[in-house]
Amino acid sequence: MSVAFDPRRLDVAAFAQAEGRLGGEWPLAALTRLLQDALPLSADSPATVVAWSARGSRKAVTGGDPEIRLLLRAHTALQMSCQRCLQPVTVELDVQPRLRFVRGEQLAETLDEDSEDEDVLALTATLDLQALTEDELILALPLVPRHEHCPQPLPMSAGEDEIASADDSERAFAGLASLLRDGGSKPS
Ligand SMILES: [Zn+2]
Repeated sequence: MSVAFDPRRLDVAAFAQAEGRLGGEWPLAALTRLLQDALPLSADSPATVVAWSARGSRKAVTGGDPEIRLLLRAHTALQMSCQRCLQPVTVELDVQPRLRFVRGEQLAETLDEDSEDEDVLALTATLDLQALTEDELILALPLVPRHEHCPQPLPMSAGEDEIASADDSERAFAGLASLLRDGGSKPS
């Protein structure tokens, strides 16, 4: 008989032992930490939910506790503000973290530092898969969201100064220098 697992209060050890599978959708609106850096949800939002799935597995280890693993997968899309043209840009998020659970916070930290292809977490009595998924999605957010090709020419407005790059300031100084050199004649 299969056991019903609650994704918001998941007994990871039992889930792994049962080789459990869970999946579904969470309303994006509930993931408020993730939305902090995104544009507010609207009728134009590319997604309203996070589609997710989780699979537990356990591997016997000679002379030790079995290894407890969780394969999580989540997909959604958000709108963020493009840092180049300031128009909304759709950001697709697709994460597939491989998680391993061990007993004890300290052991988890030590193993996590040595591990490249999986995250090692401390096993807790219950795990909130929604919060964990939200953490993983936040980590996947681009530091500088922007279009591959911005949809319209860059506006040369005052607002542009706020995100002016070093290049832009150099250009501004070059413009000033030529203005001084030309003795204040009208810039071409
Ligand atoms: Zn853009």
